[in-house]
Amino acid sequence: MRTVDDLEVLGRRVLLRSDLNVPLDLTGTGEITDDGRIRASLPVISKLSDQGARVIILAHLGRPKGAAFAERSAGGPSLQPVAERLGELLGRPVAFAADVVGPSAERTAFSLGDEDVAVLENVRFEPAETSKDDAERAAFAARLARFGELYVDDAFGAVHRKHASVYDLPALLPHAAGDLVRDEVAVLRQLTADPARPFVVVLGGKKPSDKLAVIGNLLGLADRILVCGGMGYTFLAARGYEVGHSVLEADQMPAVRAVMEEAERRGVELVLPVDLVAATHFAPDAEHSVVPVTDFPADREGMDAGPRTRVLFAEKLADAKTVFWNGPAGVFEFPAFSAGTRAVAEAISRVDGLTVVGGGDSAAAIRALGLDESAFGHISTGGGASLEYLEGKTLPGLTALEDDS
Ligand code: ADP
Ligand code: MG
Repeated sequence: MRTVDDLEVLGRRVLLRSDLNVPLDLTGTGEITDDGRIRASLPVISKLSDQGARVIILAHLGRPKGAAFAERSAGGPSLQPVAERLGELLGRPVAFAADVVGPSAERTAFSLGDEDVAVLENVRFEPAETSKDDAERAAFAARLARFGELYVDDAFGAVHRKHASVYDLPALLPHAAGDLVRDEVAVLRQLTADPARPFVVVLGGKKPSDKLAVIGNLLGLADRILVCGGMGYTFLAARGYEVGHSVLEADQMPAVRAVMEEAERRGVELVLPVDLVAATHFAPDAEHSVVPVTDFPADREGMDAGPRTRVLFAEKLADAKTVFWNGPAGVFEFPAFSAGTRAVAEAISRVDGLTVVGGGDSAAAIRALGLDESAFGHISTGGGASLEYLEGKTLPGLTALEDDS
């Protein structure tokens, strides 16, 4: 895999695929609640610009809906506020094109001077970006390719997608991996090659359907798996516990049961919460109390791990030599329900060994809770991508970069 340092970029138009998919305020104000991914993207942007490249950034934000560009750009989310924040952080002006392959992008791309930086509008405003139709994606990639002379992929968070800007585009231009992609791959290799033991995995977040496949593969790698967060309720329900109105994926129960049986067969310790913070409804100020998992009120919703669970998880992490954490232990965005996530993060930060945090929201939680990022070995910017890597899948974006022909 070539890296940025292998490219001659002076005076050349470089299409840079960055991961600027930042979380936006849950109540819909459109405010950027954590700019970690923008900050993480700065080094490669600066490096290219400092070396005299004309940097044209491609990125996606959220999941725009609609049949065509017009509908999607009307519905948003637009990358413009992200481009503005990027300009502030970079300390130099950043041009913004109001479309992806239209007249604005064309004008922007070809008017750049050496060292200039531009951002094109949300690449997912073009439905072809994510199309399952190879020909449609390839045609769109060809339109993008006209803008650049070189391609750099620094969007680790998107390498697991067979999308035009990460899979089809590198085939059309001389290409290289950005530093983020290079570093992420190196750490994930370390986790899967020969991890120091005990290797403890903490999995939380919203939905088990996102993460069951990775648990399957981690059963062959980890010594202990701690399950918490929203996905924990499906595990608790599968064990026969009442979970009230908590997030539950009932259709995942058979798969969850299969994972629990497989863990037992392989001797992997699967640890579930023993108590929970149960609230009347999903709101920052909802009335709440701590309940044991054996006595969950049917009219309540689980929002966080309880205090006994926090202690239990900290104990289960104390002797770890390798840790992988993905997914918050509760709705950490609401301060009243952030203690579980804080406890998990603090316990991991005390571990003496390789600690890897993979997941956009988990990384955001570390910063939102004011924890010291340097206490973690590696904070990944790509949740889904690191999970799929750990699942043992082939990642289309990496395959495309590995083809150096
Ligand atoms: P990551 O981005 O780190 O992979 P996910 O996207 O899987 O994590 O999940 C993050 C989300 O899960 C957070 O927004 C958090 O509010 C939510 N979450 C955690 N626990 C719960 C819960 N008990 N109920 C509802 N949502 C939860
Ligand atoms: Mg997430």
